[in-house]
Amino acid sequence: MAALELTDALWAALIARTALSEQAGSPGFYGVRSTKVFCDFGCPSPRPRRENVRLFASAAEAEAAGFRRCKRCAKRAEKAVSHSATPDQAM
Ligand SMILES: [Zn+2]
Repeated sequence: MAALELTDALWAALIARTALSEQAGSPGFYGVRSTKVFCDFGCPSPRPRRENVRLFASAAEAEAAGFRRCKRCAKRAEKAVSHSATPDQAM
């Protein structure tokens, strides 16, 4: 399995908190080696150090590598799925 490369463009998207999921061929998630937590690219969590970033195509792939989902991302994902939920935070 080829490792996903953190290009300058991907890093720029990460620090700009741009969600990449709609773009074909893009990694949907990044993991932080120092914390073993993974996030989607639109996550509002503090930005990691670039050298600690590892890219994943899917959440399942990140979990298989021993990373766990960031709590903020998990909440955002839940909201996206359940349309009837009352938003407790403005976007
Ligand atoms: Zn996150």
